[in-house]
Amino acid sequence: MRDVELYRHLLGLESPWTVRSVELNVQEQRVEVWAGHADELRWPCPECGVELTRYDHAEERVWRHLDSCQFLTYLHAQPPRVACPTHGVRQVRLPWAEARARFTTLFERLAIDVLKETAIRGATRILRISWDEAWHILERAVQRGQRAKRPRVTPHLGVDEKAIAKGHQYLTLVCDLDRATVEFIAEDRKQTSLAGYFTGLAEDQRTGIAAIALDMWGPYIQAIRAHLPKAESKIVCDRYHIMTHMGKAVDDVRKREHRALRAAGDDTLSGSKYLWLYAAENLPERHRERFAQLKATTLKTGRAWALKESLRELWHYTRVGWAERHWKRWYFWATHSRLTPVIETARLIERHLPNVMTFFAHRITNAVSEGLNSKIQTIKKMAYGFRNRDHFKTAIYFHCGGLDLYPATHSIPG
Ligand SMILES: [Zn+2]
Repeated sequence: MRDVELYRHLLGLESPWTVRSVELNVQEQRVEVWAGHADELRWPCPECGVELTRYDHAEERVWRHLDSCQFLTYLHAQPPRVACPTHGVRQVRLPWAEARARFTTLFERLAIDVLKETAIRGATRILRISWDEAWHILERAVQRGQRAKRPRVTPHLGVDEKAIAKGHQYLTLVCDLDRATVEFIAEDRKQTSLAGYFTGLAEDQRTGIAAIALDMWGPYIQAIRAHLPKAESKIVCDRYHIMTHMGKAVDDVRKREHRALRAAGDDTLSGSKYLWLYAAENLPERHRERFAQLKATTLKTGRAWALKESLRELWHYTRVGWAERHWKRWYFWATHSRLTPVIETARLIERHLPNVMTFFAHRITNAVSEGLNSKIQTIKKMAYGFRNRDHFKTAIYFHCGGLDLYPATHSIPG
């Protein structure tokens, strides 16, 4: 029959495999294809490759394949089994699918492409698979990628926390700053969360870490000190995090001042929240006039803002000596500002100062992992919040892990 030959080509089946029959079900819009093989063959053991005669057949299995036009297409076959003297009775490898897969390799490759581009829900509609099947493909892809991943040295790392739910639930993320990939995810943001990354590394990987950018967060710093040689020179308290703390201090000053002014019937600070948070050169044109007026007043918020802008310059120096001088001046100014949130932030930075100044040796920032963070935020929205933690982690590795997710098209050795 011609369609038998057609499907042999469409499925890419090669000797000893061939198409036995094809059935079209117009009502259900399905094509069923049965594959079979010639008899009197020897099959390699899937473990050791020793060629053996067929022992028996496993039960018929079915794999979803790429659609034929709009028809769902299923491949049926009874996988042969061999009785290896070393490995016992085993099912042989099949050229069209990985072991235990419910889909052919070609379908899985397409599904991975679709899942990379759209939310899970959309992928289930495009591919006409169930939610569970979509996750099955995603999980297998991540496991495959992690198995194939070769250990390598990552000199520049970023460590970040990710709030995953209300009520202070966090994940710890370790990113490779050079490749912009998520290397490791752990529950919580404790010392043990990060320690788990280091204990999983080989000796040369651990000593190959040159610098780690992170927030001024005690438990992470403790983990680095406990696991890396010469840790003090490698910990870089990151400028993005420091500026986030400072931005929050400015906002706290604004909130308090706004409340006090409002109580006296003064609305000067109404709706100004974001004006104070921009870096000066990034302030949109339309806000410039009002902001200039606000700055010209004697507001406390204006002083806090000026301190924030001056702190930002710390990282513009090329030499650490100049940066240290800038810091001393800034610290004096900040601690004499009589602005409590600013004073607290200045003291927090001062406590970590040696690890802030390491920036000038390594010049790394967590900007990359901040970028990954916003990508992860999108992933979270795409899957409607990920109530399932493991699913969330799997999706992060899938989209941000830099893994080779695809199954090989021809998996038969020899
Ligand atoms: Zn064997």
